[in-house]
Amino acid sequence: MPTVDELRERLTRPLQRELEMGCQNRVVTAGLEALVNNVAKPFPKVREFLRGYAEMDAATRELRLRAALASLQRPEASSLERTRTRVAAPLPATPSRLNAASEVSRLALSPGGPRKLVALGVRTIRDLWHYYPRRYEDRRALPDFGNVPDGDKVTVEGVVTAKGRHSPKPGMLILSATLRDDLGRTLKATWFNKPWIEKDLKPGARLVVTGKVKRFGRQLTLNVEYHEIEEGEGESLATGRIIGVYPSQEGTSQDFLRKAVRAALDAAPDPGDYLPAAVRGRYDLVRLDQALRNAHFPPDEAALQTALSRLKFDEFLFLELRVLLQGSHGTLGKQFTALDNEIERFKRILPFELTGAQKRALAAIVEDMRSSRQMARLLQGDVGSGKTAVAACALYLVTVDGLQGALMTPTEILARQHFDSLTRFLFPLGVRVELLTGAMTARERKLARERIASGEVQVVVGTQALIQEGVSFANLGLAVVDEEHRFGVMQRRALLADRPDVLVMSATPIPRSLALTAYGDLELTVIDELPPGRSPVKTKLVMDTYRTQAYHFVMKEVRAGRQAYVVTPLIEESEALSEILAATRLAEDLRTILPEARIELLHGKMPPADKAGVMNGFRAGDFDILVSTTVIEVGVDIPNATVMVIENAERFGLSQLHQLRGRVGRGASQSYCVLITGEHSKKTRERLKVIENSTDGFKIAEADLKLRGPGELRGTRQSGMDDLKLGDLSTDTEVIERARALAKEILAADPRLERPDNGALRAELTARAEQVAVRDVI
Ligand code: ADP
Ligand code: MG
Repeated sequence: MPTVDELRERLTRPLQRELEMGCQNRVVTAGLEALVNNVAKPFPKVREFLRGYAEMDAATRELRLRAALASLQRPEASSLERTRTRVAAPLPATPSRLNAASEVSRLALSPGGPRKLVALGVRTIRDLWHYYPRRYEDRRALPDFGNVPDGDKVTVEGVVTAKGRHSPKPGMLILSATLRDDLGRTLKATWFNKPWIEKDLKPGARLVVTGKVKRFGRQLTLNVEYHEIEEGEGESLATGRIIGVYPSQEGTSQDFLRKAVRAALDAAPDPGDYLPAAVRGRYDLVRLDQALRNAHFPPDEAALQTALSRLKFDEFLFLELRVLLQGSHGTLGKQFTALDNEIERFKRILPFELTGAQKRALAAIVEDMRSSRQMARLLQGDVGSGKTAVAACALYLVTVDGLQGALMTPTEILARQHFDSLTRFLFPLGVRVELLTGAMTARERKLARERIASGEVQVVVGTQALIQEGVSFANLGLAVVDEEHRFGVMQRRALLADRPDVLVMSATPIPRSLALTAYGDLELTVIDELPPGRSPVKTKLVMDTYRTQAYHFVMKEVRAGRQAYVVTPLIEESEALSEILAATRLAEDLRTILPEARIELLHGKMPPADKAGVMNGFRAGDFDILVSTTVIEVGVDIPNATVMVIENAERFGLSQLHQLRGRVGRGASQSYCVLITGEHSKKTRERLKVIENSTDGFKIAEADLKLRGPGELRGTRQSGMDDLKLGDLSTDTEVIERARALAKEILAADPRLERPDNGALRAELTARAEQVAVRDVI
């Protein structure tokens, strides 16, 4: 039997390789999942991450691989080891402050108290501070029994005067209590099948009950959802104020939680504030102790709101600090002259005027280039928004200073396309552009490599071949990475030994809020405007009973001299061949339905040269309809293709559909997208309607984010994004921007967060990271 460590080793290598090879599921002949199923028994998380790997798109594959690798690297990822850790100590191997299941036991709680808290993931006093209410109820003025509206859900308070117990049939128990309010009116509270609460119904006890009221004649009854006992002495935690209602489990009462939180706050009346007064003043934040107190026991609504906004701000602040610390902010890099007249020279070469958004993006990039710090910028823009022209200008400026630029793409087809457009832009300016891809012959590649090493070539466009073959640059100044989603941070890093500036281009419209965190190590620029003269793609959702009609529409466009894409998703789950089968069958099908059309097929298992041949043929107009799996890349630019048909549209994510659709509408004529689905469920239709009704990639991405959560996106796990309690990544853009600004300000002065005056901040950062680690294990 191999040991767990050996198994980990056996898994890690191929997973890493798969990542390096661009997530094409080629590393293991039988498919990656087969390997995982054989080897990953002790690593359930890895199996979970990679389940269904074959039919994921490349972006998802990459995310899952990284998540799997990260979980392999954490020793507690193995269930075997986890059991061991559990037996040895109830806590994972995190530093001492968390070795304190004991910490909550220092508080004056009921005997089972600490255990109940641990069951909720709360171990330390600090955890209790941050165990925020799930919602709040205003109990400042509870209605008296004379004023409760029939049928409403209310909270009222009264003293128990009598109790009853009634079992109308076996297995059913109704407990009741007669409550009297201060004016002497009565109400009958009832509990259904909750025998354990009988002990609370002592005559004379003061109860606060919440539930629906019903009036039967003069008798008022309330079906209790939950209740609390008011202790006689001292201030009430349950009434007369806005109260927090905590996430809880059966057997753990609100009353208990409130007291535990109160005790935790009292145990350290001043938790200390890692943000100094001056910073709080500038960012309009209340003191931490005040925020904690008021978030749990708000004196009024205004205090509650300021408390919550401080705590939410902090959540994002630490999230941003974490991602920024992982990145390379502030490190020294290349500095370019980037003279204005050179920029003008480039613009004059362009056959069009840059859009406002392109100009703004270029200005941000130029500013980065002129600074001595390394550029790390994400240039985001919907398909067709003109990112390439902007990147071309940056590459040109690099060559003006005598350095080299590189543009990396995830595929051959994109590399060729970019090579064509860069040549078009840069050749008139006297820049020598070179192509380097795996499809070139060994001799061609060797010559290209030599020209790159000698510095004769100024701009190189290539695929992974650029990195894999250990190409050495004479003097690399700027690396542009296209469609990073399919590329991978690790591959990107390999190019960076020389510390060039880095510009990542992505057409995946991630909401800004999320981009700031998911790509937190990059600065963000968005091109939010399409070049003029494009009319939005008309999109229609069609049930598959109307498939034939849909294809007759396609035929109409074809007769008018236009071309069409037909995309089909993977149908069978794990069979690698079925992808091809499905596409092949579809192509045959269409040849029968549309005998006049010239139809070709493209799929992922074709040799690169064949793929390029088909694409070039399509570009040249040699045939009318291209049937393919999802291999046609984002960014492929064939203006004469005006129709996109997507079969089994329900199998795609919204953002993916939007990406696919982006392959049409790239020329002047009206383009169309037809989504075909056989699924009738309301949910599916609503989802697909989003695409039908909107062409705004960012709106679609937001809808997608709401529907699926951020879990699918890059790095969410590691950065603790699914760990937000108060923050919401899809809506809190403004708070995120402010928190990020502060995080950057802090790190600008203290890049590794090492200065003594940042000790409290560092400690909090660590504590929050540990919290995430603990939650990962339980
Ligand atoms: P992206 O890379 O963002 O998908 P491209 O850079 O490929 O977009 O641009 C799409 C098409 O629009 C290309 O044919 C390009 O030449 C053209 N284009 C880019 N910018 C403009 C502009 N400002 N005005 C008109 N056409 C433009
Ligand atoms: Mg592009």
